[in-house]
Amino acid sequence: MVADGYDDVEGDIVSRVRSIVGVDCVIGVELDPHCHITLQRIKEANITILYKEFPHTDVVERAEEVLTLVLRTIRGEVRPVSSVFDCQQLGSYRTTLPLMRALVDDIIALEGQDNVLSISIGHSFPYGDVPELGVRVLVITDNDKVAGDRTATSLGARLVAMRGKTMPEYFEVEDGVTQALTATAWPVVVADPADNAGGGAGSDNTTILRSLIAHDAQDAVIGPLWDPIAVQMCFTAEVGGRFQLRFGGKTSAASGVPVDAWVEVVGLARDCYQTLGITRDSLGDCAAIRIGGIEVVMTTHRTQALGLELFTNVGIDPRQRKIVVLKSNNHFAAAYEPIAARVMFIDADGPMVSDFSKIPYTKVGRPLWPLDAETSPKLIL
Ligand SMILES: [Zn+2]
Repeated sequence: MVADGYDDVEGDIVSRVRSIVGVDCVIGVELDPHCHITLQRIKEANITILYKEFPHTDVVERAEEVLTLVLRTIRGEVRPVSSVFDCQQLGSYRTTLPLMRALVDDIIALEGQDNVLSISIGHSFPYGDVPELGVRVLVITDNDKVAGDRTATSLGARLVAMRGKTMPEYFEVEDGVTQALTATAWPVVVADPADNAGGGAGSDNTTILRSLIAHDAQDAVIGPLWDPIAVQMCFTAEVGGRFQLRFGGKTSAASGVPVDAWVEVVGLARDCYQTLGITRDSLGDCAAIRIGGIEVVMTTHRTQALGLELFTNVGIDPRQRKIVVLKSNNHFAAAYEPIAARVMFIDADGPMVSDFSKIPYTKVGRPLWPLDAETSPKLIL
């Protein structure tokens, strides 16, 4: 988390907990890999473990590891010591793609060997403008700093060598939509990472939708589009209602312009949720509308696409559609890759830009690739 006036919220929380419980109490912490592995939080906690998977499907397993290690530490069976390597780089590290998949499989195999208790890769959150931004490797050993430093350095060097090779191909809007329309195997699942509410976007950008409408796309669905006012109007109109609706394109300039269209309400459901692994994510009230051959699922909670329930809640089976457009960066992959004939990424004009050099940073520590070509990755703990 980054809050106004707090660049390291979790570090602050862990420090305050430490000041309450004292130096002898064992503190274990589980975090999302899109956190920032600041030295404050690592030094103040005894054990920090991040999820390894992105999509984050291993939240429970990692929590069990934290608990197990805390209990072993309390019993005096192990003495956790942390090593941290700073790769001085930014990137997106989807564990569904080959290089990162291999790295995660390897670190799982390394745990338990050479006194290594746990290995975490901190992807960091590139849209957070904080001094300790960047990819870091955290290795916890059983009181073997030399082995921890060696493993962290080796894995850090491997991540440095992976620079620029961990992202999927991104398509321009017209090119991507045309490819999806001319596919011969379906469904084609199209992600809109730039409008990912999980990263802070409005989830109401209309650029890809307007391109689908302009091409008169058939059997296409898109969601979740955040527009509580439009959802309310659809509930008033009821299923089957047809009316002129202005929707989407509201949150900011990066939302594009609203869509004006004759719509038919085709599905309504209250208090919906979707799932990612065992995580339940609220969608709020949902309304599905149809414009020609395109269905749009609108929500009252601003969130990204995770589970198939996003569509099935309102009576749409995404497996029966040709094009499924999802506002999400990567978490959608857990549920949608298994049903997709092809997964594509379209780089639209939402606020979550894929080119980190376009982000107007003011606080980040430099050097930092790709902002800087020359860096000096190194052990920092
Ligand atoms: Zn995350």
